[in-house]
Amino acid sequence: MGLKNQVLLLTQMKAMFGVGIMGVDAKMQEKNDWTCFVCDGETTPYFSKDFDGRVGLGIADYFRCKNCGLVFSKTHLEMTQEEWEFINMRYHWFFGHMENADDPQWRKRLYIQARTIAKLADDGILSKDLPWIDYGCGDGKLTYNLSKRNLTALKFDRYLSLGLDGYLAEEDLLVGGYDVVINTSVFEHVRTIEVLDEIAGLVSENGALALHVMVREEIPQDPDWDYLLPAHCTFFTNKSMRILFERWGFQSSIYHPVSRMWFWFKQNNEAVETLANSSNKYYFKRGFVDYWK
Ligand SMILES: [Zn+2]
Repeated sequence: MGLKNQVLLLTQMKAMFGVGIMGVDAKMQEKNDWTCFVCDGETTPYFSKDFDGRVGLGIADYFRCKNCGLVFSKTHLEMTQEEWEFINMRYHWFFGHMENADDPQWRKRLYIQARTIAKLADDGILSKDLPWIDYGCGDGKLTYNLSKRNLTALKFDRYLSLGLDGYLAEEDLLVGGYDVVINTSVFEHVRTIEVLDEIAGLVSENGALALHVMVREEIPQDPDWDYLLPAHCTFFTNKSMRILFERWGFQSSIYHPVSRMWFWFKQNNEAVETLANSSNKYYFKRGFVDYWK
């Protein structure tokens, strides 16, 4: 797709989401210090990376939180909402029509994730009383895979739905309205605590957050680390995840290494623990299970 069409699409998106985007813009500009947006800890420069013009990016400066170890790109966080969306859109053109060279396993992973989610639903671990939602669903591949297993998850993507049918609109999101909130490969693209709070806030009182995100004990101080993609701006440690887990009032969690997914539970500890004890495929903890060390 040519640059002209990209800008046209962006303009259409701005028309669709105009009010919301202005709100986020104002918030970013108000921010004049660089404390950690997860724990309010002090941050210090960590390293810089030269993207050499890839999707319009030059040098990005990464900062690290002295308290929780979260690493973020100050360069990405300083972008206007429009600049940030443009980077994401240029980077995500592969959705729905081609492979992503940076993540060749994504189709297979989404298949395995759907299978894992379906198994937990069969086992009665994931409730189906309230609707499910895939927040940041991109082209909807995971919801499609779930539909093949007779499971319905509503689709929401603030930036990549491009006005397609079958996606929830901004105003349709219900706080506390979903028994399962699926969120795969989204946290890396988030620049504010408000967006993280919004995602977690969708989970119902008895619900679960199904999460695929890269987590490390410590983020490598290495500009050549292969996870530093143009559209990735924030990198989470076990400690920053634990802080978020407790902030949102989750009780227990399991990690399933095969699908690379966490399931965070608001309640239901006993059933989850029983399942985890009966299978060596899950790692259980009352609290955030810090699998990657
Ligand atoms: Zn922090």
